Amino acid sequence: MPKLKCECSEVINLSGVPSRDQYLMISDKEYDSYSGLIDAEMLYSKMTIVVKCPLCSRLYIYNDGFNSPPAVYCLE
Ligand SMILES: [Zn+2]
Repeated sequence: MPKLKCECSEVINLSGVPSRDQYLMISDKEYDSYSGLIDAEMLYSKMTIVVKCPLCSRLYIYNDGFNSPPAVYCLE
């Protein structure tokens, strides 16, 4: 998914690595199950991808990866 068009019409470019607008999220409980040295790629595979629109701050949370529609959260 190189680009995402936000509800506010901002086009978010996700092709850069690392991406300015992409975040990674993991539950505190799951993170706490790890200790010591951890393989970064393995940890990455356990994280949920979150995209934050730089214009309106909407959050697009991809709970099942980019192949499923995201849950979208908007500021009140
Ligand atoms: Zn937006």
